[in-house]
Amino acid sequence: MSSEKSAPEWPWPPASDHQATYDLHCHCGTIRYTMTVSPPLYAEHTQGTEQQYTAVECTCSWCQRNGEIMAHPLTKNVSFDHGAENRSEYRFGSRIAPHWVCKTCGSTLGADLGPMLKKMGMEERLAINLRMLRGFDRSKLKIKPASMMEGAPPNYKEYIDGLYAQNDK
Ligand SMILES: [Zn+2]
Ligand SMILES: [Zn+2]
Repeated sequence: MSSEKSAPEWPWPPASDHQATYDLHCHCGTIRYTMTVSPPLYAEHTQGTEQQYTAVECTCSWCQRNGEIMAHPLTKNVSFDHGAENRSEYRFGSRIAPHWVCKTCGSTLGADLGPMLKKMGMEERLAINLRMLRGFDRSKLKIKPASMMEGAPPNYKEYIDGLYAQNDK
């Protein structure tokens, strides 16, 4: 029991009996990808079970600045079909997770959590920004706040304060 209590609360829901596949694309459309998740993102795809995917509005320093709404599909269930070579990556903190942006339009696509989860002995997942959904409609999503990454080291505020302090010298 005590080990269950200390386990981190992962931001993705347990899989249901249903799954659905969704198209995503960056703002300029160069990068187009698909993702399969279970349970489905939209109530209309749950076949009456009403088990809908709970996406998270993450409060880490990156998501706060970019307004990302995240789902966490298994890496094997995401496919970058067009324009993957147009991805640039940004790493921060422990630098283990590349955060992808489109080189052309700057859209924030998601991040690869695979290396981090693998180190913890877990199945590899991506964090996918649902704002890239084709026909994005926030009202169709079930969203909850997620604060587990909020205090992830290093301290972001200290880092930024350090930059300002340099300016002031
Ligand atoms: Zn783009
Ligand atoms: Zn985040």
